[in-house]
Amino acid sequence: MKRPLPILLFISFLLLAGCRQELADCPPVVSVPRSSLNGRISTDSPIQFPLDEYAVLGPFEASSSSGVFENKRHAAEDLEASPGTAVYAIADGEISFSGKAGGYGWLIIIDHPQTNTYSLYGHLSPSRWHRGTGPVAKGDLIAYIGDSDENGSSIKYGEMTPHLHFGIRQGQRTDYPKNGDWRWMAGWTTACPSEIGWLQPSQFILNYETMSQQNWQAPAGAGWRRYLFPGLLAVWFTAVAANGYRLYRNKKRNLQGEK
Ligand SMILES: [Zn+2]
Repeated sequence: MKRPLPILLFISFLLLAGCRQELADCPPVVSVPRSSLNGRISTDSPIQFPLDEYAVLGPFEASSSSGVFENKRHAAEDLEASPGTAVYAIADGEISFSGKAGGYGWLIIIDHPQTNTYSLYGHLSPSRWHRGTGPVAKGDLIAYIGDSDENGSSIKYGEMTPHLHFGIRQGQRTDYPKNGDWRWMAGWTTACPSEIGWLQPSQFILNYETMSQQNWQAPAGAGWRRYLFPGLLAVWFTAVAANGYRLYRNKKRNLQGEK
C-alpha cells in the first residue's frame, strides 16, 4: 500500500457513517398513574407489580442534564426506593443473567418464555444478597436496591439516587445483541423502544393479556450482525497497529542505514 493513511481514514469514515442512527418517530407515551395499577394486579395474575415503592420518574426521557443521554430514549421505568429495599420477580421465569454490568451496578434479567418477554432489574446492590442464575418464581426475592456508591454511579453517569431501573422486552435475552444500541441490557436507545420490542412496563402490565406477542421479530442487530461492528473495529485497529509498526521499522532501518 503506497497511501495507507488516506485509505484507513476513508475506511473509518465509512464505519462511522454506517453507525449513525436517526431518531425514528415514536408513538406518544402515556404515563400510567399508580392508582390504575392498584387492584389491577391480583394474586391470580401471572405477574406482580408494583415490585415495591412504586414511582414513575419519567419513562422515555429525551435527555439528561449531563448530556450523556442526549437524543436517546429511556427504555424502562425508574422506581425510586431507599437502598436495601427488596426487589421481587415480576413473574415465573429463568434468571438468565445476574452480575455486575457497568452503569447498572448489579443487573438481573429474567426470561419469561410463557409470554415471550424478559424483565430487567438494574441498579441493584452488589454488596447485599442476590439471586444467581436459574429458575425463579413470581414474587421471589431476587435482590436489593443498591446504594449510590455501588449502583453504577460514575463520573460519566453522575451520582444516581438509589432506584430500580425496570424494563420489559419482547423475546428472550438471547434474541438481542450483546453490543450496540439494541444490546440486551441497554436502558437508553436512539431507536424507538417500542419498535425494537422494548415495552413500557406500566402499559405492559395493564395490557399484557391483550398485547400481541405474535408478529414480533428479534432486532436486526441479533444473530451474526452482533459480531459485525466489533469485528470491523478489530480489523481496523489491527491495520492501524500494523501500519504504525511498519513505519517505525522503516524509520529505524533508514536511521541505521544513515550511520
Ligand atoms: Zn432508568
